[in-house]
Amino acid sequence: MKEVLLHCCCAPCSSAIIEWMMANGTRPTLYFCNPNIYPEQEYLIRKQELLRYASQLSLRVIDDESMPSWTSWSAYHASWLSAVRGMEDESERGPRCLLCFKLRLLSAARMAQREGIKVFTTTLASSRWKSIVQIAEAGEWAAQQVGGGVMFDARNWRKGGLQQRRNELLKENGFYNQLYCGCEFSLRQTEQRMTQRDATQVVATDTEHTTTEGTKLAATECYRESK
Ligand code: SF4
Repeated sequence: MKEVLLHCCCAPCSSAIIEWMMANGTRPTLYFCNPNIYPEQEYLIRKQELLRYASQLSLRVIDDESMPSWTSWSAYHASWLSAVRGMEDESERGPRCLLCFKLRLLSAARMAQREGIKVFTTTLASSRWKSIVQIAEAGEWAAQQVGGGVMFDARNWRKGGLQQRRNELLKENGFYNQLYCGCEFSLRQTEQRMTQRDATQVVATDTEHTTTEGTKLAATECYRESK
């Protein structure tokens, strides 16, 4: 059976790809490397959901937290923040996202090389919210950085019915479905989009939008509609 290192951003985006791989002669080794996710509680929830799904399928997961270099989530996220400094106000699909993909896929390329796995790919390519062109650019760049020996599979994981299957598996497994892409800037932009959307609707007396929690819930719907 062919082995692939699958960089995983979350359980919902990973599920249909994993299912497809296992049905098509490929055994994925999952790699959770997402220093972009903020805050820590969100990071832990997304990871736990992936671990739960992997456990059901007896799949191996490599977690950045198990690496000797790991000290804390704060330090992990701080190094990501430092890398994207100056890009805080960029919109999604802009240069901050390209750099974010490069950082994560460079780690994935290094991990594939370390593990002797010749091909790596990413579940980031399953979301319509992200630029497939940026993901391919980042993955191919990452493979070059490690000096050959590993290849990035730039497949569009939204095709072949996988988008629909993702949504089915999300419901079947009761996965936690994230509210926003991952970083604090995407959370803020999602909330702003929702605020703008609300401004065009007659919801002036709708008090559920007046609390922080209400805004987050509404922002969730806004993001999910876009996915
Ligand atoms: S919006 Fe998403 S892809 Fe872009 S920088 Fe933030 S976490 Fe990374």
